[in-house]
Amino acid sequence: MKPLALFYLLVLYVILQFSWWAYLLIDLNREVYREHIEFAREHGHPEKVTGLEKELTQRWQMVAGEGIVFLGILIFGIYKTRQAFQKEFSLARQQKNFLLSVTHEFKSPLAAVKLNLQTLLRRELPREQQAAMLNRAVAEADRINNLIENALLAARIESHNYNLHKEEFSLTDCIESSVRNRLVPVDQNRQIITDIDPGIYMKGDGLAISSLILNLLENAEKYSPEGSPVTVTLKKDRKNAVLTVADLGIGIPDDEKSKIFNKFYRIGNEDTRNTKGTGLGLFIVKHIVGYHSGEIKVTDNHPTGTVFRVTLPLEPPSS
Ligand code: ADP
Repeated sequence: MKPLALFYLLVLYVILQFSWWAYLLIDLNREVYREHIEFAREHGHPEKVTGLEKELTQRWQMVAGEGIVFLGILIFGIYKTRQAFQKEFSLARQQKNFLLSVTHEFKSPLAAVKLNLQTLLRRELPREQQAAMLNRAVAEADRINNLIENALLAARIESHNYNLHKEEFSLTDCIESSVRNRLVPVDQNRQIITDIDPGIYMKGDGLAISSLILNLLENAEKYSPEGSPVTVTLKKDRKNAVLTVADLGIGIPDDEKSKIFNKFYRIGNEDTRNTKGTGLGLFIVKHIVGYHSGEIKVTDNHPTGTVFRVTLPLEPPSS
């Protein structure tokens, strides 16, 4: 916070200096006019005295008016600079959080892979057990891969180096297979209720859309108690496809709803949080929705939890 303190000190100095100069200017004016007024009074020119007094008031008002405008501009500038400072600070904090969480994220799947492989090396196990351990190791390696993919995707989005395909594909199949693939490595007791309309096709990037649904599903599972159901629906609504992912989890407070789509943003503090994540998932989701000229909304679920609702035009506006 040191630079901010220095900034406030500088602002205080400018205001004090400015007030001092304004005072001096008014005082100087008063001094000059007083001499003229006295001179006019002594020589019996009352109309000149009134004129000079009026002029002095006008001068005074002019200095005050200009002072107010200057102060207004100064305060506006201070406000804007402060805003920029705060934005930088919060980005720096989020980046620090990102580094902390990425380290955590890498450590645990790597440790799991290592443990599974070491056990396989050291002990003669029955074939099924070996297969189970290898599957677990592969799933953990997939998690690391996912994390890297997300980080690369976010970097490409940032540098506007992200080209999407615009091909017709079956949204129905894409959502169904994403939900199916998701089920394998994660919480086995999790029930994913689906209500997916058949035969919905759209123009766009199928891979990006499956990354979108995987991110929303992963969040729904991460931020809700183990075993609680997650509902995925896909419906056609005139010229749009409407996809919803709803959970019965911890929910998102109203004042956080608009922030969660920012890069690196995670609710709460990294030191106290116990869920894993990087704050990149929804940033990517928002951009994928944007690239498809769609919309994403987040609302509360009942009795608890969150609903993400994505509206995607089936025929994107021609560009
Ligand atoms: P993360 O890697 O932290 O999950 P995201 O960008 O996917 O990053 O999400 C940003 C934040 O939004 C999360 O850290 C979490 O606090 C909040 N969030 C996202 N989805 C949900 C959800 N379904 N329920 C509650 N909170 C959520």
